[in-house]
Amino acid sequence: MRIYFDHNATTPVDPGVVEIIARTLAEDFGNPSSVHHFGQRAKGLLDDARSAVAALIGGEPSEVVFTSGGTEADNFALRGAAEGVEPTGRRHLISTTIEHEAVLTTLKALGRRGWRTTLLPVDASGIVTPDALREALTDETALVSVMHANNEIGTIQPIAALAQLAHARGAVFHTDAVQSVAKIPVDVHALGVDLLSLSAHKFYGPKGAGALWIKRGTRVSAILTGGKHERNRRAGTENVPAVAGFGMAAQLGGKKLGAEAARLATMRDRLEDAVIARVRGTAVNGAREPRVPNTSNISFEGIEAESLLIALDLEGIAVSTGSACSSGTLEPSHVLRAMGLPTHRTQNSIRISLGAASTDAEVDYFLEKLPTVVGKLRSVTGARR
Ligand code: PLP
Repeated sequence: MRIYFDHNATTPVDPGVVEIIARTLAEDFGNPSSVHHFGQRAKGLLDDARSAVAALIGGEPSEVVFTSGGTEADNFALRGAAEGVEPTGRRHLISTTIEHEAVLTTLKALGRRGWRTTLLPVDASGIVTPDALREALTDETALVSVMHANNEIGTIQPIAALAQLAHARGAVFHTDAVQSVAKIPVDVHALGVDLLSLSAHKFYGPKGAGALWIKRGTRVSAILTGGKHERNRRAGTENVPAVAGFGMAAQLGGKKLGAEAARLATMRDRLEDAVIARVRGTAVNGAREPRVPNTSNISFEGIEAESLLIALDLEGIAVSTGSACSSGTLEPSHVLRAMGLPTHRTQNSIRISLGAASTDAEVDYFLEKLPTVVGKLRSVTGARR
């Protein structure tokens, strides 16, 4: 049995998405910037995808700029908005300690170029409080970037309240919604944001396709310069097959969202409750609510996350860990550390992320194997079971 419980890393591509990508690759090779028939067919595919992506997040098609994925969308939002507001003299950026590396590393790069950056703390449940943002905002603040749902623990931030505070001080608001889109309802107007990043491969679309939604009127400079693609906002011939697949994934994701969210939440909660009941020395990391329905992050006393990941993989179960092994030492998860968890818990936690193909039978198999795997690892390290 092979079980995939790592849907926050990436998802299997939906057969409907595979079909449109294959068809587009085989039949619609035209350059969407060409005026002839072949070009216009390709442009039609981009238009359809743009409408589907816009509909999924409640925006206008003209506000969607296709990118090579979530990382580029985050870079575009941060670097583009920073450059866009430069003439106003504002030189301060605010984000949080639990963002994805696509945001954190980009902020560091901007910091080296003279931007002052503030990273807001999170509380023990992994939530950023509006008070923390209120305190950090100044009349110098150009941009606030707070992720919608966290990739490691799944907690959902109070984006609407945070965006309102940022706007009151004249700052632009960006959210990285890569882990929330198509898992929970995401509406750019309800959230009140100016910029929103999303990525196709997190909801059964292809890798290497994503978008930045840019609210009409928001000043964002292009970071990829060249031709006049994407209304002058992102140069480079569009990856038409991948974008067509992205559009199909958006369409399917929107249709399935409600029922799938309820199914996954029920399954995830059952898994979590059973792990806590059956395996001693376990705890769920982060607030249980509000959280995306597919994600669980659990710590296991006396175990290194990496060892548990490998042992579960040997049993055919794929999970992941926020802590990474680099040069022989286990790096703690920056998210769990930011939540103030003790060092051992930042290194003994695994992420289980369910998805469309996950079944109750898979959860049962996981629950059957887990206690033995944990017991074996603990007996090696001498920890109690
Ligand atoms: N932002 C978040 C929250 C993510 O989880 C990821 C991917 O793991 C990204 C950004 C990057 O997206 P992509 O893999 O499309 O570059």
